[in-house]
Amino acid sequence: MDKSAKKKIVVIGGGFAGLNFIKRIDKEKFDVTLIDRNNFHSFPPLFYQVASAGIDASGICFPLRRELRKYRKAEGLYFNMTRAKSIDTNARTVTTDEEVIPYDKLIIAAGTTNNFFNMPELRDSVYTLKSISEAIRCRNDIMDRLERACMERDPEKRRRMLSFVVIGGGPTGVEVAGALGEMKRYIIPREYRQIAPEDISITLIEGTDRVLRTMSEKSSAEAGEYLKSLMVHVKLGHNMKTYSDDTVTMDNGETLDAAMLIWTAGVKGVDFEFTGDTIKPGRGNRIEVDQYCRVKGVNDVYALGDIALMTTDDYPNGHPQLAQVAIQQAIMVARDINRGKVTGGFKYNDKGTMATVGRNRAVVDLNHIHFKGFFAWITWMVVHLMSLLGMRNKVSVFIDWVWDYFTYSSSTRLLMHPGKYPLRKRWLKE
Ligand SMILES: Cc1cc2nc3c(=O)[nH]c(=O)nc-3n(C[C@H](O)[C@H](O)[C@H](O)COP(=O)(O)OP(=O)(O)OC[C@H]3O[C@@H](n4cnc5c(N)ncnc54)[C@H](O)[C@@H]3O)c2cc1C
Repeated sequence: MDKSAKKKIVVIGGGFAGLNFIKRIDKEKFDVTLIDRNNFHSFPPLFYQVASAGIDASGICFPLRRELRKYRKAEGLYFNMTRAKSIDTNARTVTTDEEVIPYDKLIIAAGTTNNFFNMPELRDSVYTLKSISEAIRCRNDIMDRLERACMERDPEKRRRMLSFVVIGGGPTGVEVAGALGEMKRYIIPREYRQIAPEDISITLIEGTDRVLRTMSEKSSAEAGEYLKSLMVHVKLGHNMKTYSDDTVTMDNGETLDAAMLIWTAGVKGVDFEFTGDTIKPGRGNRIEVDQYCRVKGVNDVYALGDIALMTTDDYPNGHPQLAQVAIQQAIMVARDINRGKVTGGFKYNDKGTMATVGRNRAVVDLNHIHFKGFFAWITWMVVHLMSLLGMRNKVSVFIDWVWDYFTYSSSTRLLMHPGKYPLRKRWLKE
């Protein structure tokens, strides 16, 4: 095909949706440019393990250029590491930190970012897990805190220094609280002997009446029991009202020490500035799309994955923000664009959900089957290993897990501070 006749597709975001779209789009027919603020794809379901020093960050990140190399048979596949800032749907351009890129078709697959609701000040004081850099920051602070606590003579100060509060009882909150509990139970007594387990407090706060609300009641109850066995204190039915001076104040007036607050309570769609025909982000700052993932009110713009809000009878508030939704939407849109017509519309095939709460403990809900314990934990590990990109990553994570399992130790508890100079402010942009 004449190169100049090829239509240009711009994809914002090399996450689950963006990469699966690129995998299937016909590269003979279209020129494709992928824009991502990072030069790697990352695997959010295991961020909490990086944050708790269970695995190495490089095991769950995969270079985008290496992934794209697979499709180089067809010319016209480009990657730009930059941040997309604004979209002009009349001029059909995307403006990034570096340039203005024209498109014939635009795929917005930029996912979500943290939502602090009406407490924007939290951004500067809490730890979050929405990106690999946030997970590494969380891990560094935990390691730093443990080292300093070993030298702290005042028991009251040491106890305050080791007060961890996790906000949000969804899968991420439960998994990170469970990982901290494992540390308290198995690692601290072995490696940080100056710290007594009772010096460490871990509290999980969930505003509703159960953790893992999106899973079955059985799973919620079992996860609650698992957390208890790992010495995690679970507080249900109340929300955090304020956080300042290392203290959480609850909506019932209760206060808690929280030298380290890990926020997993909310996400919202990544922000873009829109010009041209109006795109109005809906609930959770997600972009409203029809059943074919076409953004409402504009032509040739699609939104996929976490950032897309598709309301249906089954999902009146939009689909759950899960990897499978992103992948299935990407497959459908690539197929429709390849064929040049829409067919069928999106129907989410829910393959089930699972969460793990430390070694040997997990809960799994498949369509009509629920199971827990060791078998669920093995299932959880196999599914996550298979979902990682790249054989090297699969092997590296598998080795970390096996090593941790038998030795209760990992090589990732190293605290390596990045050099501060020369200052590279553009690297600090979120
Ligand atoms: C901690 C955590 C745990 C999770 N656990 C699970 C789980 O167990 N199971 C499950 O199914 N789902 C889980 N999820 C949700 C799952 O990760 C998402 O549903 C999935 O990643 C959505 O895919 P996506 O392609 O829409 O977005 P993402 O995978 O988030 O990809 C978005 C991409 O866009 C890029 N980007 C963002 N903004 C810009 C910009 N302005 N310019 C350029 N690039 C940009 C990002 O760098 C990223 O590469 C979890 C999420 C988190 C945060």
